[in-house]
Amino acid sequence: MGYFENYMNVSHNLSGTLQEFDLGNGKHGKFYSLPALETAGVGPVSKLPVSIRLVLESVLRNCDGKKVHEANVKELANWKPAETRTAEIPFVVARIVLQDFTGVPLLVDLAAMRSAVAKLGKNPKIIEPLVPVDLVVDHSVQVDFAGAADSMAKNLDLEFTRNRERYQFLKWGMQAFDTFKVVPPGIGIVHQVNLEYLAKGVLYSQDPKSQTPDAIYYPDTLVGTDSHTTMINGIGIVGWGVGGIEAEAGMLGQPVYFLTPDVVGVHLTGALTEGVTATDLALTVTQMLRKTKVVGKFVEFFGPGTAALPVVDRATIANMAPEYGATMGFFPIDEECVNYLRATGRSEEHCRLYENYYKAQGLWGIPQKGQIEYSQVVELDLTSVRPSVAGPKRPQDRIELGNLRREFFNAIQRPVTENGFGKSRQVFGKSVKVETAAKKKANIGTGSVVIAAITSCTNTSNPSVMLAAGLLAKKAVEKGLKVNPAVKASLAPGSRVVTDYLKKTGLTPFLNKLRFNTVGYGCTTCIGNSGPLDPAIEDAIVKNDYVTASVLSGNRNFEARVHQNVKSNFLMSPPLVVAFALAGRVDIDMSCEPLGKDKDGAPVYLADLWPTLQEVRDAMQSALKPEVFRKLYKNFAAQNPKWNEIPSSVGNVYEWDTKSTYIQEPPFFTSFSMTPGSIKPISGARALGIFGDSVTTDHISPAGAIKKSSPAGKFLIENGVTAEDFNSYGSRRGNDRVMTRGTFANVRIKNLMLGGEEGGNTIGPDGAKTSIYDASIAYQAKGTPLIVIAGQEYGTGSSRDWAAKGTNLLGVKAVVAQSFERIHRSNLVGMGVLPLQFKDGTTAQTLKLDGTETYDIVGLDANIKPQQDLTLKITRKDGKVENVPVRCRIDTPIEIDYYQHGGILPFVLRQLISKA
Ligand code: SF4
Repeated sequence: MGYFENYMNVSHNLSGTLQEFDLGNGKHGKFYSLPALETAGVGPVSKLPVSIRLVLESVLRNCDGKKVHEANVKELANWKPAETRTAEIPFVVARIVLQDFTGVPLLVDLAAMRSAVAKLGKNPKIIEPLVPVDLVVDHSVQVDFAGAADSMAKNLDLEFTRNRERYQFLKWGMQAFDTFKVVPPGIGIVHQVNLEYLAKGVLYSQDPKSQTPDAIYYPDTLVGTDSHTTMINGIGIVGWGVGGIEAEAGMLGQPVYFLTPDVVGVHLTGALTEGVTATDLALTVTQMLRKTKVVGKFVEFFGPGTAALPVVDRATIANMAPEYGATMGFFPIDEECVNYLRATGRSEEHCRLYENYYKAQGLWGIPQKGQIEYSQVVELDLTSVRPSVAGPKRPQDRIELGNLRREFFNAIQRPVTENGFGKSRQVFGKSVKVETAAKKKANIGTGSVVIAAITSCTNTSNPSVMLAAGLLAKKAVEKGLKVNPAVKASLAPGSRVVTDYLKKTGLTPFLNKLRFNTVGYGCTTCIGNSGPLDPAIEDAIVKNDYVTASVLSGNRNFEARVHQNVKSNFLMSPPLVVAFALAGRVDIDMSCEPLGKDKDGAPVYLADLWPTLQEVRDAMQSALKPEVFRKLYKNFAAQNPKWNEIPSSVGNVYEWDTKSTYIQEPPFFTSFSMTPGSIKPISGARALGIFGDSVTTDHISPAGAIKKSSPAGKFLIENGVTAEDFNSYGSRRGNDRVMTRGTFANVRIKNLMLGGEEGGNTIGPDGAKTSIYDASIAYQAKGTPLIVIAGQEYGTGSSRDWAAKGTNLLGVKAVVAQSFERIHRSNLVGMGVLPLQFKDGTTAQTLKLDGTETYDIVGLDANIKPQQDLTLKITRKDGKVENVPVRCRIDTPIEIDYYQHGGILPFVLRQLISKA
């Protein structure tokens, strides 16, 4: 048998498209041919963007007349670069990837569905993923220990102690579900593991109901419960991040529905110059495409510059699609892709099959100008890319390296509302001396680097930048430079392959010497698991309100993401992370200021340390060896004794432990019945919060530390958990009691009902200030529905289903915003919460809303249509009434069904039970 079996496919021969191709081993295989679809006159398929053609293949193959119709095939085969987008595409994906923060709650939901089915006296096995599901445990490891040889072992020990209950639960899932596999902790980061190991490029199925035993070959496609799933677009695989709720529906046989997208073509020409990295290119693309406005669109790279980029550089750019706002940052399939598959240990037979399949589909090679008509084309000459960083708060705010000092000064003095820090220029030059726990003296002030992390699959999957970091470290050590004692340095590779090539190239000792010891294989600082700072340093920051900095090779840098008390965060390439750790500050112009002094007291500049392209290329020769990949991606359990020691419960239905503070049966199905509710107006609602622009999913449902004084912290203490064992919100997503209390509990969220005060507070029904959770409980006790009001880009940031689940469980019936981030909007609908959008020019400020109003949503009934206008009726404290038109952001007909059923999960559950 082959790589995966997928029994969802049905054999048909629509328009004579079921054809054969040469497998490259003397045999022939079957496939649904896109060229045949064009020959049959269905549409001008060969002119479509490659990404659209790959989705079209899925629509064609899965055309069963029930979930996917012939009309869907025709519609997509006739995709036009520019037209009003109203058609939704039913996309059946080949597989699903999960990380543990989102995967555990997803497994909790599946377990809860099984419990609900069992309670109804039906066979719980009707709840079973229909496509392969791979979960990689990568989000849990924290950098509690850093800068020493034993840091990784100690972090791994702590990880297993903290997460034992969750890991036990995952092990139950592995035995309860046939198609659910787990890559245990300590192996790597989900997207890098996907790129290096899970992705096959071409899959094949054997339909047991088919008359013919022949396998059908089809493109590897996926959705993942993590926004950066798009890294896989770097190797020509269609895939993106969805909320856990949509992934569950996808697992249970529902297509992932999305509006037909525009496709923006990015025409790359030229080549990167000396001193410029793939990270600089990714930051440049992010800034450029943010300006182009690509939200909800596919981005497809083409042209000679694209063809010349290696897959690892493509993957770095693709990874940042959520940062530029696109659904995907897609790179078509070519020679480079098959070379990468070969170099990473995929078999020769499979590589031949891969190449033959895409050639048969007419999908081989990077398109050149004029071959495809895109909705819009933007140009980028790679020779124009300069060394860059991005920050201090947003990934799209790119700064050329030489301008950082000036830009940092500006950011410090800019008002908070303009992404600044609102400080006076007097803060510069002030610092305090502290003594660290290691008895080292350090100066701390505004601009000091306190965290330097080589982290994130964005970059750790790319040997060129990882080797550049090692080469820079080598030169720095040889010149006698040291990392500033205030800096917490760490290296967290996304797979053990990185460790192997850093070791083989002899670079590990130099990184270690600069305290970039490996701290674990996982997301670490990229997801906010940067761990504690030295107490003396943290104390100095908090007492003096210093705006210190983190420097990291990650992709997200909004406030409180990296560390609660580190306010400015700069994204950059791994070699620059090392350089800033040496300098110890971000208020530096590295083009003319030295990073330090060598053994003889002579100044050392960045240019003295920067490795040449040739040096990196030479080191790369040792980087990608197929046998290393094969060895390291084999028999995980045997390589991980700690994982083997974790006991697993057995059985098809999970036995919930009501005392667990990690895993609880969520209340989503407690009053489940086979009859859905009805869509009705919302009346007499009150505002639970009024927020400004760019409220992230991390503001709504933080992933990081739980404060003792927060509702979640108090709950854990009441349940016998000490503060040291709180772990993070992300790790507690299997427990709705903690997560509901944690919703809107981010220390940086600003509620305009309290004049923009930071923290998760609001005004309760009695008019007094209270926590958002306590206010919600008080309102729910009175039977008062709640709404949330917000500005632009509501729900931006990581795909996080708890941001929608928590909103639902707080009793919020609608969110009214100026605009929504794509995944969060669909997650809200998926949880039965109504997203409404203000018309252009209307905001909470123009309406002078302060939270004392009462709100009705008028026009909401069973006849509602996607994107229909509704009325938000505002009744002021003094009784004055104002009717404001808003657009209902239920975008597609299937979403109306989801909303009516109270969300996707009850919808799917009713379908499955009625078929059983
Ligand atoms: S390393 Fe960062 S980008 Fe990659 S999966 Fe982890 S959190 Fe997401």
